[in-house]
Amino acid sequence: MIKKILFISAFSVVFACKVQKNKPISDADVVQYGETITSQELKDHLYTFASDEFQGRDTGEPGQKKAANYLKNEYQNLDIASPLGGDDYFQDIPSSFFDDKYNASENVVAYIKGSEFPDEIVVISAHYDHVGVDAQGNIYNGADDDGSGTVSMLEIAEAFKEAQNDGFSPRRSILFLHVTGEEKGLLGSDYYTKNPIFPLENTVTGLNTDMIGRIDPKHKDDPNYIYLIGSDKLSTELHNLSESVNEEYTQLDLDYTYNDENDPNRFYYRSDHYNFAKHNIPVIFYFNGTHADYHKPTDTADKIEYDLMTRRARLIFYTAWEVANRDNRLTVDKAK
Ligand SMILES: [Zn+2]
Repeated sequence: MIKKILFISAFSVVFACKVQKNKPISDADVVQYGETITSQELKDHLYTFASDEFQGRDTGEPGQKKAANYLKNEYQNLDIASPLGGDDYFQDIPSSFFDDKYNASENVVAYIKGSEFPDEIVVISAHYDHVGVDAQGNIYNGADDDGSGTVSMLEIAEAFKEAQNDGFSPRRSILFLHVTGEEKGLLGSDYYTKNPIFPLENTVTGLNTDMIGRIDPKHKDDPNYIYLIGSDKLSTELHNLSESVNEEYTQLDLDYTYNDENDPNRFYYRSDHYNFAKHNIPVIFYFNGTHADYHKPTDTADKIEYDLMTRRARLIFYTAWEVANRDNRLTVDKAK
């Protein structure tokens, strides 16, 4: 991956004067960028990110800090800036915010500035913490939960960056938000929405990914699916856009079982997107459902379905692309 980026930037130096800074986004071949999200790269990332080296990424513990640094290094390698400026990619959360139950922790943030509506922000999020190591020394690698969403975000960020390198900056800004403390009660996203880097009024949409690498028992015979939760709850436009993007580019079966208000699992309220939704920010939660390895030491990288995860990550990329690049800001027609 790094080799390829260097190759491109060597060319951009040579041809910099000829490249138009921001070309009309409609000229971009979005599929070319979607296809930079590959099964092999997702796998390479996840075999590292969900390895024992990261000790289950428990909030405030050394393994989580290692994971945070891994993400920071990847953004620096991709030459994607931090919204905090310089080489500070960490939104620090003091231990006091956790009632001193956990050590200080950090959300990891990266940012691509929009070319036309830079103040309007599209948030792409996933939690990078997990539940650590148990008393018997079993490491909970959390490959699906939520290593899958985390490494997908890296690939989505790379796709946006490659488009920008070709002169196709997104019209709206994209914030890549890797939240901590999810497993302790959505704490990193709670902190972000109480201390937003960009005003929540200007936050257009949140696309959150928590577990997109596996197949649940219900879909074992027909695994080309993803559960979508929340897409129609605040913005009909977001729901319609998401459906049409999938129809055009990814053709996954979109399963809305868990979007039902009466579903007893109440997943809409159980991951980080909800902290945005409660501020009337339209969200989509992407989710593969639960499985036998959910929150067990056996949630490991070898059990991930990488081709399927690639299609799901591409769906999120294409959806973010459409939200970021359409003429109008998404309309919220069902504000609570
Ligand atoms: Zn999770």
